[in-house]
Amino acid sequence: MSNELNNIWNEACKQLKGILSGDIYDRWIAVIQCMEITETTMRLAVANDFYKDWLEENYFPMIRKAVMVVSGKELDISLEVDSSCFDAVKVETEPEPHAPISLPTLGLGKSKPNHNLNPNYTFDSYVVGPNNQFAHAAAMAAANSPSRTYNPLFIYGGVGLGKTHLMQAIGNHIAAKKPRSKICYITCETFLNEYIDSLQKNNVAAFRKKYRKIDMLMIDDIQFLDGKARIQEEFFHTFNTLFESHKQIVLTSDRTPSEMAGLAPRLISRFEWGLVTELGKPDVETRTAILRKKAELLNLNIDNGLLDYLAERVSSNVRSLEGALIRVATFMSLTNQKVDIQKVEELLHDLLDKESQAAISVDIIQRTVAEHFDLRPADITGKKRTKDIAWPRQIAMHLSRTMTQQSFPVIGEQFSRNHATILYANDQVSTKAKEDRGLQQTLSILKDKVSKNAAKTMQ
Ligand code: ADP
Ligand code: MG
Repeated sequence: MSNELNNIWNEACKQLKGILSGDIYDRWIAVIQCMEITETTMRLAVANDFYKDWLEENYFPMIRKAVMVVSGKELDISLEVDSSCFDAVKVETEPEPHAPISLPTLGLGKSKPNHNLNPNYTFDSYVVGPNNQFAHAAAMAAANSPSRTYNPLFIYGGVGLGKTHLMQAIGNHIAAKKPRSKICYITCETFLNEYIDSLQKNNVAAFRKKYRKIDMLMIDDIQFLDGKARIQEEFFHTFNTLFESHKQIVLTSDRTPSEMAGLAPRLISRFEWGLVTELGKPDVETRTAILRKKAELLNLNIDNGLLDYLAERVSSNVRSLEGALIRVATFMSLTNQKVDIQKVEELLHDLLDKESQAAISVDIIQRTVAEHFDLRPADITGKKRTKDIAWPRQIAMHLSRTMTQQSFPVIGEQFSRNHATILYANDQVSTKAKEDRGLQQTLSILKDKVSKNAAKTMQ
């Protein structure tokens, strides 16, 4: 690898060092090895899947941006797992003061900590709002008196709403209070893979033993069990053993136990023995508080006005919110430019478009069209066929098809019509719009109004 090319990675690291706190840099960036750089690609490697997943989820856009700023072009960057090159590196470097996160395998290898938790996922860094108040209180209770309050504790909610964070906060809390307790955090997928591995290697007994002697079991994304009978059976026995010996069990999922159609009834009922609690979407105040907290933790110097703006505009989930913040911060520090709202809109236009797109619903379209034509929303969905109603109705159908991701049958339901009617209306309006400039203008005004109304619902 030529020196000039290699320098790109070193320079990118320097940039990242400037924007990340020392701890985060050491933990997540310094551990990356640059394997190869060509004119168009860059291959990076880390020691295990845990690093890979974490980096991809949290720091990849930042890395990509830093490389782009340094090299002046967008390289195709890949991140792979290559444990071989790391054994050699480890000999040279002192062990890190913060124990590197180990793979989620218990009891194997040398001096491992008793857990494999992300140290940043604590109660301290978790912002409480009306959306998560109850789940947070339950998690605190489980952390303060494991197995004596809610067992199992089952936390469910959509993507990026803080399930993993809250679950690990319980683990970190217990680990801090009782460093000797054996805490196991594992994703359901890894749990399944380990089980399959043990089947192949003929040592299911070792697998069982490992999971049945721990003090606390946290399984993330348990919906992965849905429809997989054999691992459900295995998990059922692990669950019973731990439960009977009063060990805390925490599970997360994207849906409730009873919504898992392929889950054995005895598991559904066990999952409901303790407490099933939901994480909802945070409101704008909570989103603002989360951003302020993240900016503080990451040592970012961004003014509150901008944070408020981001909190207002990015409402789908906390992970996207965090991603937006990191993108803005990276830009600021890499270019040394002041950022105003206009610049943020430019930087995040893809994300912001997606956000407002997500907020557009057939219902909003129906209401907007009704208002524009001085009708009642009920007229739009109703049966009357007079021209002054039927035409706006067709326009609303057309907009529903073009502005949302919904299928014809789903849109049909919301107009109390069948899918063929929507298809026909959509064609009619599209065809007419090709030659009718007045109609083109009306559609464009309506699209604008719909987007504005959708944005209002996000606040
Ligand atoms: P999930 O597991 O539900 O998909 P995560 O726990 O991975 O979501 O959360 C995504 C990101 O959002 C994480 O970086 C997490 O720290 C952050 N996050 C989510 N909810 C909160 C909260 N209430 N306070 C602070 N950070 C949060
Ligand atoms: Mg998660």
